Amino acid sequence: MNRKLLKKVPFWGASVSTHQVEGGNHNQWTVWELEHAAELAKAAPQAFGDWLPSWERIKKQASSPENYVSARAADHYNRYEHDLDIMKKLNMNMFRSGIEWARIQPTAEEWVEKEIEHYRMYIRAMRARGIEPMITLWHWTMPVWFVQRGGFEKRRNVRLFVDYCERIIEALKDDLRYVVILNEPMVYSSEGYWKDRWPPQAKSPLKTVLVVNNLVRAHKLVAKRIRNQAPHIRIGIAKSSSHITATDNSLLSGFSVWAAEFMWDRQFLGRIKKQLDFIGVNYYFTNRFAGLKNVQREEQLPSDYGWDMEPRNIQFVLERLYDRYQKPMFVTENGLADAQDEHRKWWLKETLEGLSGAIKNGVDLDGYLHWSLLDNFEWADGFWPQFGLVEVDRKTMKRTVRKSAKWYGEMIKSIRR
Ligand code: BGC
Repeated sequence: MNRKLLKKVPFWGASVSTHQVEGGNHNQWTVWELEHAAELAKAAPQAFGDWLPSWERIKKQASSPENYVSARAADHYNRYEHDLDIMKKLNMNMFRSGIEWARIQPTAEEWVEKEIEHYRMYIRAMRARGIEPMITLWHWTMPVWFVQRGGFEKRRNVRLFVDYCERIIEALKDDLRYVVILNEPMVYSSEGYWKDRWPPQAKSPLKTVLVVNNLVRAHKLVAKRIRNQAPHIRIGIAKSSSHITATDNSLLSGFSVWAAEFMWDRQFLGRIKKQLDFIGVNYYFTNRFAGLKNVQREEQLPSDYGWDMEPRNIQFVLERLYDRYQKPMFVTENGLADAQDEHRKWWLKETLEGLSGAIKNGVDLDGYLHWSLLDNFEWADGFWPQFGLVEVDRKTMKRTVRKSAKWYGEMIKSIRR
């Protein structure tokens, strides 16, 4: 890796999302978790047992309903000062976290000032440690009342989301420079609306289209308000983007690559590009097409989660999106489930190679944020996938900095020097 090139990147750190780490939340996900925990635990041996290499190690946890209920999560809501101290020790200077809408507006008529104050203190605690906050306004969780009204399925509800965002920006704007309005809108609509893996398990093509359109609208309207209220804030998205490639030169494989890029990235980013100051990429894996089929590499090295591990390909994703949109880029998420910390250091090294390559080829990269700072609640799969640079003991909540994180911290130090 070329350190000289990496020195051009001003921000280095990590990411979390509110629901996955805070604990004590009440939103549409917590309702769904409680209703589905037993069923998910029962289905785990069938869902993972046959193929997941880590199954023997995780099967006890994955077969227990407790695994699927976020409950105290990583108790980050109460322990954030300690967590930020860890970040500081690791030389990080940016933290992507968020605001939990359901805490701010638990009913349609109620705005909880105490919670807004909590987030003000949270953000200031980052600043006090020299850590620049990047704040996500929506990372999939929503107040129950909003979802009962149809959530983002209904165009008329978009204004309710805009009101919440406006209030947050008004209250916190003096302390904010970087805001992500939406996290992975395509993953949310595909898992919850196209498929039935996540709430609201709609399995409806029509609703998928409506939700995507309303999220595009939400981004545009919120961006417009932010530009009026706080022109100093740089507005972005955290977009899940894989490296999409073909195994051969056939027309059909080429078509699949084109179609996947169009469906996943272009039809969303293309519609909001004027309302974006930066593009955040969440990179985890590569999608490979042979004809119309999505295939795995034969010599696949999988993470605990069964995802391929091809961290270097981050370079191609950054280059593809930068070439098309010419916007400054952040890596807003990138990492792997690796409870034993066997591969994380290698992953980070390879990723830095990929980043160097992208910068060398002209990508304007403003930051790299690893997913995740802490072991956390991995949505419908619960706690067993461990993405943390920092291990969290589920019983005591004790934090242990993994070896790979220490390496990453030293690397950041040498880059920022
Ligand atoms: C999401 C995170 C999630 C991570 C790993 C991303 O799709 O934004 O919330 O934990 O991937 O699965």
